[in-house]
Amino acid sequence: MKVGMIGLGAMGLGMARNLVKAGFLTAVYNRTALKTAEFTVSAYALPEALAAAVDIVLICVSKDQDVLSLIAAIEGSIKPGSIVIDMSTVSSDTARKAAVILAKKQVAFLDAPVSGGVEGAKNGMLAMMVGGDAQALEKARPVLEAMAKRIVHMGDVGSGQATKAVNQVMCAGINQAVTEALAFAQAQDLEMDKVIEVVSSGASGNWFLEHRGATMIKGSFESGFKLALHYKDLKICQAMAVEADLSMPLTDMTVIDYAQLMAEGYGDEDISALYRLKKG
Ligand code: NAP
Repeated sequence: MKVGMIGLGAMGLGMARNLVKAGFLTAVYNRTALKTAEFTVSAYALPEALAAAVDIVLICVSKDQDVLSLIAAIEGSIKPGSIVIDMSTVSSDTARKAAVILAKKQVAFLDAPVSGGVEGAKNGMLAMMVGGDAQALEKARPVLEAMAKRIVHMGDVGSGQATKAVNQVMCAGINQAVTEALAFAQAQDLEMDKVIEVVSSGASGNWFLEHRGATMIKGSFESGFKLALHYKDLKICQAMAVEADLSMPLTDMTVIDYAQLMAEGYGDEDISALYRLKKG
């Protein structure tokens, strides 16, 4: 089974390296071609050429429009019977649109967004939520297991992305809580390393505190999940909440905070840059 990866960003790179280790990866494509240089598998200059050469196309790019433009690019060349698996975080509507386009080519589409950060991508420890045909998932599962420790089939196409939206709402709340609490701790003149150590071990311990607490208090927001990407996700969540007639004040507040940080030029920083607004 030949497997190609499109998108070698912060997440895609770690995923692709794990696919190489597991012996699955046969092809790569990245818009900025330089990022393919480390791979000894076939590197294609166009996504349509990659799609014609593999049985499974994996995608991990930024936004809805990026996914849809890639689907438009590959639909003419992809082989019937192939499977396209999109691991980007986009809307359920985009997933359904992609599935309809590819179904006309007898190609299965799975929306398979992930959670676990760049660390999870690097270590092959992602959590993956999958929507789409269960048989296609079973066929692709050994490949996905090279990247993810937990793979859960959520239902029809779009249900993976809907589940990821749940995750992103929760991330917003955790970011608000951790950045606010650590700014509060600093105001108490506590030893911050000790605060992080002991709080991480108790009932308030969480992934974000453990992985971003130490860097955030040093004013370093370089690694990880770009704030502008989480903003994009939360806009999707807000639209879903409007449809469901739900109020989500934490999400709304985070969108406003992120908009301010993006206007100040911090959109490419990690989401822990929210700490900039909290520390006063
Ligand atoms: P990233 O570092 O900004 O990388 C984005 C990738 O998408 C790059 O390879 C980029 O190519 C490619 N790309 C963007 N627009 C494209 C287009 N129109 N056509 C072709 N390629 C395009 O982002 P990331 O952090 O890897 O995130 C990727 C996806 O995973 C996003 O949907 C994000 O929300 C999601 N996600 C991220 C995290 C995280 O912690 N970072 C965790 C879970 C999920 P270039 O190299 O040419 O720019």
